[in-house]
Amino acid sequence: MNRPVQMSVLWFRHGLRLHDNPALLEAISGPPSMFFPIFIFDGESAGTKVIGFNRMRFLLESLADLDRQLRSVGGRLWLLRGDPSKIFQRLWEELALTKVCFEQDCEPIWNERDQSVRATCAERGVRCEEFVSHTLWDPKAVISANGGLPPLTYQLFLHTVSTLGEPPRPVEDPDWTGVTFGTLPPRLMKEFQVFDEVPKPEYFGLSQPGYGLVRWIGGETRALQHLRERLNQEEQAFRKGIILPNQSRPDLLGPPTSQSAALRYGCLSVRRFYWNLHDLFNAVSQGDPPAGLNISGQLIWREYFYTMSVYNPHYAEMSANPICLDVPWDKNPTYLEKWKKGQTGFPFIDAAMRQLVSEGWIHHVARNSVACFLTRGDLWISWEDGLAFFLEHLIDADWSVCAGNWMWVSSSAFEQLLDCSKCLCPVNYGRRLDPWGEYIKRYVPELRNLPVEYLYEPWKAPLDVQRDAGCIIGDHYPERIVDHQRASNQNRQYMENIRNSLLEQPAHCCPSNQDEVRQFMWLPDECVGHITAKIA
Ligand code: FAD
Ligand code: MG
Repeated sequence: MNRPVQMSVLWFRHGLRLHDNPALLEAISGPPSMFFPIFIFDGESAGTKVIGFNRMRFLLESLADLDRQLRSVGGRLWLLRGDPSKIFQRLWEELALTKVCFEQDCEPIWNERDQSVRATCAERGVRCEEFVSHTLWDPKAVISANGGLPPLTYQLFLHTVSTLGEPPRPVEDPDWTGVTFGTLPPRLMKEFQVFDEVPKPEYFGLSQPGYGLVRWIGGETRALQHLRERLNQEEQAFRKGIILPNQSRPDLLGPPTSQSAALRYGCLSVRRFYWNLHDLFNAVSQGDPPAGLNISGQLIWREYFYTMSVYNPHYAEMSANPICLDVPWDKNPTYLEKWKKGQTGFPFIDAAMRQLVSEGWIHHVARNSVACFLTRGDLWISWEDGLAFFLEHLIDADWSVCAGNWMWVSSSAFEQLLDCSKCLCPVNYGRRLDPWGEYIKRYVPELRNLPVEYLYEPWKAPLDVQRDAGCIIGDHYPERIVDHQRASNQNRQYMENIRNSLLEQPAHCCPSNQDEVRQFMWLPDECVGHITAKIA
């Protein structure tokens, strides 16, 4: 067989960036070879199995950004459609494929794909080079350091990673000198489905779900710009002696600054984010005190949830999942549908659900509220249903991070024996987060003329007030589907019954202390007492 030149592939799955990309550095290093950066639409990679319009657009924009950057240095991103193993096999048959480099996709849902590619490559003597750069630490190394088991509590996780030392610093940017980009020969262009340009979400049969006010733009270029803005914000806070500035005052209506989707797709390196933050803190504090994990605590939750799922293929399910408690949730398709559509009659919940569907991102406090409402708070519907909906609609939807958060909020895991004594009240909690009702008016416009005192519980508005506001409850906006006090009291009783019926404490995770609950829920001090009354 004629094999004129060597060929190396960088197989993008997540990690859609050029900075801090060790797999890229490996792919362009070594003896001269043709370099092919590739992304493959296989109906699954990068979370494309269950995906809505907004996340698909974010992903496609991230790919377009990579393509633009690669073209500026004389190459392109090859976008193919098909089965990765078959594609690599054909590249080996037709070209001299010698190595395939990629970033570790640590979640167990990717194992089958990766094992198949590894087997295909091994049979043909093609090297597979995998690099850990989607997480701060290698989740498998964390588990080994904990004696082969995932650290069950967050505190144990913190302890375990402290034994591994600081996460590695980002690697250097690629040096393109001497890199030769390969071109696919015409016969492969004919055989493979190759996209001439990055397709639009409509190509995959997705259509825009209504009009979103906030537009999230995918890609490394935008993510790095956001990072600079974020670091400015953090620096100002550090100078005032404040950490975690975006948690101290949740801003539901602010400009889109979250990096969660950029981190989910790896447009931004988590190590870059972490080290920039820590270096900045140390520069401001002059090393006294030194930066600790508390200043980047949210990133550690991300690590924790990834690590917990690595050897647990059932992590996103209830029954088969050993760390998840079996709760006899109700099946209630009517209520579930109303929750999804933002038609529960609780304006704060409905605003968040409508924002989720139209824009693809909602604030952490809003996620907590709608998740609590669906599950242990009000509707007593399984978190698995909520997860499925979030996975479709969130632009940052990550299989393990999303499932981990759902288990946490619904008291199904990471919870000290269902001791969540109070749930989030969709009326009072909404009111304290959005005291002027601006958030509700933005996303539930039929209520915009209702006086603010009724905005959170419009069923209490007298009929003449409803008439004046042009919004009759039950007609223009739904009646509340449950009485929150009654439903939440009953659900708390259910939880207590389940707890009492357990013969022994299940070996699942729980929060270590009140601080941790506060940090997770982003709650101001005075709220925590209610929620964690019994957490010792
Ligand atoms: P920041 O405070 O700036 O945090 C920085 C980064 O840390 C985030 O971008 C994110 O990558 C990570 N992070 C923050 N909070 C958490 C957390 N609780 N768990 C894990 N990582 C965290 N986040 C996702 O990235 N993907 C999801 O699929 C997801 N699903 C969620 C489902 C539910 C029910 C809940 C309650 C939360 C979920 N979160 C998820 C966590 C959190 O809401 C978002 O990460 C956060 O809103 C992002 O905002 P930010 O970037 O401003 O956060
Ligand atoms: Mg279970």
